[in-house]
Amino acid sequence: MIENSKILQDSHGRDHTYLRISLIERCNLRCTYCMPEEGVKLSPKSHLMTYEEIFEIAKTFVNHGVTKIRLTGGEPLIRKDIPVILEKLATLPVELSITSNAVIIDKFIPVLKAHGVNKINVSLDSLDAEKFKHITRRHEFEKVYKNILLLVKEGFTVKVNAVLMKGFNANEIIDFINFTKDLPIVVRFIEFMPFDGNKWDMSKLVSYAEVMTYVHNAFAEDNIERIQDAPNDTSKNYKITGYKGSFAIISSVTNPFCDSCNRLRLTANGQLKNCLFSSGESDLLSALRAGKPIEPVIKKAVEAKFKVRGGMDTLKKLQEPKLHSNNRSMITIGG
Ligand code: SAM
Ligand code: SF4
Repeated sequence: MIENSKILQDSHGRDHTYLRISLIERCNLRCTYCMPEEGVKLSPKSHLMTYEEIFEIAKTFVNHGVTKIRLTGGEPLIRKDIPVILEKLATLPVELSITSNAVIIDKFIPVLKAHGVNKINVSLDSLDAEKFKHITRRHEFEKVYKNILLLVKEGFTVKVNAVLMKGFNANEIIDFINFTKDLPIVVRFIEFMPFDGNKWDMSKLVSYAEVMTYVHNAFAEDNIERIQDAPNDTSKNYKITGYKGSFAIISSVTNPFCDSCNRLRLTANGQLKNCLFSSGESDLLSALRAGKPIEPVIKKAVEAKFKVRGGMDTLKKLQEPKLHSNNRSMITIGG
């Protein structure tokens, strides 16, 4: 590690040890909360990081203290050179994981295993095939459902992410929890977050408190166990006594967890984002291509990180469209 080893510490004393790398801006699904109906303006291919550039940038972060890398997108598995990316990143001393919609993940089980990827997060917003089609604008429920079961059978640690929305899937909260009865998975309910073009409004959001009301109405008090959250965990974790799996709530809107945030994000076109909610970006790829050191750019970007949600520290600010509509759509950030 070189001298300025604190380049990943921000001005609020938070050390950043977790890097999420988006590999691609495209996807084989079209989730309404993630991608605007009209699509997104894609970066020209020449503006996207090559696998060599991904590796170089990742190596710099690891040299400065990153211990976890999660690959995301868009859909990371539709990138053609994903096997090479995994192979290269697996040479770094990090925990490597992936977030996928799991539509084609069955084809990648050997390569994921070969490169030590054990932790897989899968998006699934409904257990009903028709509703799945409505939210993803694609008819792939069966594949995703079967692939979740397959991943568990193959020994992967699986977390299922469900973005909750009123009038759409809030009535499935208990079905999702019952999905963990015989399956050792974690179902994570995510509060719907505002990004460019996703027609967010607070009234669609199902809050942490509301999820817990559903839970308390469905299960006896003694059977609802609060379980230990991992350090830097973004979720509040629970389980129902006797169930093999557990459930959690990611409450970025009503209960942000910014105090313990250790995450940075690298977009597929090589821009560093110091916060999911921040519209600011720092161009690592141009610096790398110009043969300049990227550490000073990283240091400046990390130092500038806001204490809470990219500066939107109140719900009132979060509800002002002009404050979050300069941000990218989630599909081009990498969730
Ligand atoms: N395609 C992969 C997938 O769907 O898992 C990886 C990329 S996706 C952008 C990563 C995560 O972001 C998913 O779990 C998705 O549910 C979440 N996400 C996208 N838009 C969101 C929003 N507006 N609010 C909350 N979570 C969102
Ligand atoms: Fe694709 Fe994932 Fe976004 Fe859905 S949430 S459109 S699967 S990137």
